[in-house]
Amino acid sequence: MKTQSISLFREKRPVIISGPCSAESEEQVLQTCEAIAKSGKVDILRAGIWKPRTRPNSFEGVGAIGIGWLAKARESTGLPIAVEVANTTHVEEALSHNVDILWVGARTTANPFSVQEIANALKGTNSTVLVKNPIHEDVELWTGALERLNQAGIEKLAMIHRGFAQHGNSVYRNEPKWQLAIEMKRRFSDIPLICDPSHICGKRDLIQGVAQQALDMDFDGLMIESHINPDAALSDKEQQVSPEDLQIILDSLIIRRSNITDVELTEKLQLLRNQIDLIDDDLVKLLGERMQVAEAIGLVKKEKGITILQAERWEEIIKRVTAQGSMHDLSLDFLERYLNAIHQESIEHQNDVMNTSELEEE
Ligand code: PEP
Ligand code: MN
Repeated sequence: MKTQSISLFREKRPVIISGPCSAESEEQVLQTCEAIAKSGKVDILRAGIWKPRTRPNSFEGVGAIGIGWLAKARESTGLPIAVEVANTTHVEEALSHNVDILWVGARTTANPFSVQEIANALKGTNSTVLVKNPIHEDVELWTGALERLNQAGIEKLAMIHRGFAQHGNSVYRNEPKWQLAIEMKRRFSDIPLICDPSHICGKRDLIQGVAQQALDMDFDGLMIESHINPDAALSDKEQQVSPEDLQIILDSLIIRRSNITDVELTEKLQLLRNQIDLIDDDLVKLLGERMQVAEAIGLVKKEKGITILQAERWEEIIKRVTAQGSMHDLSLDFLERYLNAIHQESIEHQNDVMNTSELEEE
């Protein structure tokens, strides 16, 4: 993929994007943007103009008039502005107001027709586009959106990790699933990766912790929603922070470096990394051996005509391994995911020996 770096990201780490979830009124946009710009730490102003709401009858944004308010904030603060676009009309409105940066929202990234429509509308422009991860855990859709824009000639791209929707209880509004963002960083090492702790957390108290975690994973920027009066916000009020709270969060962030230049430190880390590599080698070898035993069990089950899944035996494994794992300081959440992955792979190996060989015998 041929990309161009975005100058702001070459100059500063982390790049901070902030501003209201939605533009609600001229005063709200101007007051919020001017107050957050005072910190000197905000680099780009954001506001949602057209709001993609999951359920109807909630506030769906003020529409194009809001871009004018944001453009006024750009004038008074000197900061570039960013809005979300989801179709050709949005792109045209944004371009006609010289919006500096566009972003594609999570619901839109999930829909290749919409992403293609945006890409077509942007053809021939030199726009900067930030692409949020799709709502659900699919790095291919996220990748596909970057590719569609890039194939339309958009070379200044960045990715925004805003977490993934899930069922059931979680402290987060959208689970971070960091490994998916890290996979995107591995695929596109030249494209900046921004974290949006606001939409991950859903609650303002959690934002500082997630923002720090993102920086420690070498993210290049943060997008944090802010509002002059968060409790009165028309959308996402629980996660928006006041300009004062934004300042506290930004001042608290510790920015660690990702390049290691110090020789002694490099050596120390190398020793530990060698240890990790040896343990990984052992783990992979043991997992391979475990699957061979699973296959042997599969053959016995096949011979005796019994099913692959033996619920009681599985229960017994879960109990034994979680008890042992807890003694080794492994979290229940990790043990559950680990066991499910092992079980799934084991079932596939057993399925192979039980069913493939039958076909071969025919
Ligand atoms: C937003 O940034 O306001 C927004 C709608 O986010 P997302 O697309 O991540 O839900
Ligand atoms: Mn929002």
